[in-house]
Amino acid sequence: MSLPLSLNTATVRAQWSLEQVIEGCARHGITGISPWRDKLAECGVRRAAELIRKHGLAVTGLCRGGMFPAADEAGRRAALDDNRRAIDEAAEIGAQCLVLVVGGIPAGSKDIDGARTQVEDGISAMLPDARAARVPLAIEPLHPMYAADRACVNTLGQALDLCDRLGEGIGVAVDAYHVWWDPDLARQIARAGRRILAYHICDWLVPTTDLLLDRGMMGDGVIDLPRLRAMVERAGYKGHQEVEIFSANNWWKRDADEVVRTCIERCRTVC
Ligand code: ZN
Repeated sequence: MSLPLSLNTATVRAQWSLEQVIEGCARHGITGISPWRDKLAECGVRRAAELIRKHGLAVTGLCRGGMFPAADEAGRRAALDDNRRAIDEAAEIGAQCLVLVVGGIPAGSKDIDGARTQVEDGISAMLPDARAARVPLAIEPLHPMYAADRACVNTLGQALDLCDRLGEGIGVAVDAYHVWWDPDLARQIARAGRRILAYHICDWLVPTTDLLLDRGMMGDGVIDLPRLRAMVERAGYKGHQEVEIFSANNWWKRDADEVVRTCIERCRTVC
C-alpha cells in the first residue's frame, strides 16, 4: 500500500503551466500538488487557489522560501521580506508547509559557519509570522554538493538540530535525492517523527551528468525507495509522496501526460 501521490510542478516545469498541472493532476487522479513560486506567480495566487480548491487537491507544500544568507544587512532584509511574501502565498493556497531551501555562502565569503548562523537567524526571524499564518516551515536539507550555492543545511540531523532549537511551527522536508546516502538516515528519520512535513521522491542516476537537472524517475537509479518510505511511515508520516524530478534532458523533453503516467506507474511498482 503506497502513500498518495503529489506532483511537484518541477517535474513537468518545461511542459506545463500551473493551471495545466492542476488540470493534469485532476485528469490522472493525482490528489496532491506542490507548486513552485514562479509558476504560482505566472498563474496568479488567487486564481491558483480557486483552481486548486475547485479540483479538491491537497497542497503538499509551496516551493520555496529560504535563501537567507547575504553579504550585507540589506540583502538579509530583502530575503526576509521575500520569505514573508512566501508565507502569505502559502497560506492563500492552503499549503501544508512552506519548503525552505536555506541558501549557501554569500558571494565573496568563505565562512560556512557564518552562513549557517545567518540561516538560523533568518528562520528565527520569520517563524513568528509563519506561526501566526499557521504555515509550518519545512527545512529541506540538500545534498552537500549544494552547500556553497543553495543550502548549507546538508543533513537531516543538522536540520533537526535547528528544529530542536527553534521550537514549534517548524519541521523538515525529507527529499530522497538529498538524504539517501546518509549513514545516519534511519536514526534521523525516526528522530524526526511527526516533524516530517513533506516527503519528496525521485531517483539518483549513475552516472549523474548534471548536479541540478539530471534527477531520475523513481526506479531508474540506486535509491531504495520502499525502504525509505517504510522509514518515514514508521516515523508517523501519513502524507503524500511528492514526485519532484528536475530532468532537463529526459523527462522535461517528453509529453507531460506520459511523464505523469510514468510517475503513477512507478509509484505503484517501485516506491
Ligand atoms: Zn525536494
